[in-house]
Amino acid sequence: RQLHILLIAGGKSGEHEVSLSSARGVLAAMPHPTTLAVIAKDGKWLLGEAARRALEAGVAEQGEHPFPPPVPWHGFDAAFPLLHGRWGEDGTIQGFFEFLGLPYVGAGVAASAVCMDKDLCKRVLQQAGIPVVPWVTFYHGESTPEPHFRPPYFVKPANTGSSVGVSKVRADQDGQSALEEAFRWDHKALVEMGLEGVRELEVALLGNIHAEASVVGEITYASEFYDYETKYTEGRAQLHIPAPIPAELSRRIRELAVEAYRVLGVRGLARVDFFLAEGGTLYLNELNTMPGFTPTSMYPKLWQASGLAYPELLDRLVRLALG
Ligand code: ATP
Ligand code: MG
Ligand code: MG
Ligand code: MG
Repeated sequence: RQLHILLIAGGKSGEHEVSLSSARGVLAAMPHPTTLAVIAKDGKWLLGEAARRALEAGVAEQGEHPFPPPVPWHGFDAAFPLLHGRWGEDGTIQGFFEFLGLPYVGAGVAASAVCMDKDLCKRVLQQAGIPVVPWVTFYHGESTPEPHFRPPYFVKPANTGSSVGVSKVRADQDGQSALEEAFRWDHKALVEMGLEGVRELEVALLGNIHAEASVVGEITYASEFYDYETKYTEGRAQLHIPAPIPAELSRRIRELAVEAYRVLGVRGLARVDFFLAEGGTLYLNELNTMPGFTPTSMYPKLWQASGLAYPELLDRLVRLALG
């Protein structure tokens, strides 16, 4: 059966452009009739031709329709909120779909919200016995006396993605300005122990609560860390699929990822990211409940390498939304 899908892209977060490039890929390969809606950076929506033009432009500064826009919600079988970051990946739009009674791709309200908040997510994972990098949390306006970790350490907004607002603080750098940068994006920030010579390993999960795991992939790059520029500038980062790691480590990563997914109650999909520190300690860094989704993004590539092609993956996701 053909399903009519409402694809929503763009959004108000710092990952607006990333979302639009994900949407170009999804729209081109989706094996179901799909209607596009774009949320501009000002939070207003673009529909019909205006949405198509925004997708081609790769950015929409201003929208036309304030929320809720005049979309025939009940004419769709499922919504696909292909939105990254706050107001999209954080449970807010998921709550709106719940109210409408409209099935949607991806995690529900609670799992989206908790996975988006790095502080809350790490607390849940820690309680479940899943290893996470040591950190402390500050709200904007609280005094942040001494540095809690030896440099280099990391400072991040609690709710972020694509490394927006994330800083690595070296011994010769100012931790306060890193915190100020993080607070530009959120009222809560994390200061995290920095891992030296870290390897970044990622696995793609698919399923409702009980997920299947893809092969494990690795990302390498020449920059200081995997920052926004490195993520989205052609040629700066290399994806290695499968990751050149021992089978035993790959098994442990997949096992931890599936367990974290279950503990957090994730539906649909997640890209689960790990850090392998020098010395071999493995940490779960985060779960991204709406990962980058262009055909060259890690999430679809991991599935492709595991035998699931991009259009089939989209079909599976839409069906999981109804399941
Ligand atoms: P995504 O785009 O995957 O959603 P994000 O914005 O949620 O990313 P993180 O994954 O937490 O942010 O951090 C971005 C990058 O910063 C990591 O991929 C890694 O390169 C570096 N990094 C973050 N925390 C640490 C740490 N504690 N030690 C070493 N490197 C780190
Ligand atoms: Mg993230
Ligand atoms: Mg993300
Ligand atoms: Mg990350």
